[in-house]
Amino acid sequence: MGWFSSNSIRVGNGYDVHALKEGLPMWLCGVSIPSEKGFVAHSDGDVAIHALCDALLGAAALGDIGLHFPDSDPKYKGIDSKKLLAEVVGMLKDRKRNGGELYDIENVDITIALQEPKLRPYIDQMRETLARIMGIEKTRVSVKATTTEHLGFVGRGEGCEVWATVQLITKSAKRIFFWT
Ligand code: MG
Repeated sequence: MGWFSSNSIRVGNGYDVHALKEGLPMWLCGVSIPSEKGFVAHSDGDVAIHALCDALLGAAALGDIGLHFPDSDPKYKGIDSKKLLAEVVGMLKDRKRNGGELYDIENVDITIALQEPKLRPYIDQMRETLARIMGIEKTRVSVKATTTEHLGFVGRGEGCEVWATVQLITKSAKRIFFWT
């Protein structure tokens, strides 16, 4: 018989797609990527940050990015998605909103599917940028990129697809009574 102190673990996933169009800026994970095409969007179109925000919100069961930052609201026109991520991170630390819970981000893993340009030269800067906004070490932030071998809408250069997975840990340890 005894007391066992345990932190609870929460997992979230996020997914987003944006169309590509010539002459628009391309932002991914808060980094400006030199490219002939960029993302069609109400915000700055950072499809990777959008997927990450949805994963974080999902893990905390706080809805989704469209609920908190509706694209019908002119306030978010052209907005820097780094600001949206900072706001989402703030929500995780808001005990009142989360029924007394306070979430720490344990790790983040992002996969970007884009035919071109090649993203490898920017991966490190992406990890640094996201880690800084989330207030965690870069070693906890993974960003991966892949093409789709010219298959599908990504392969034809019509859009970009991103998946994000996160793990949160509740700061408030809960006591669980158990028998041995
Ligand atoms: Mg989006």
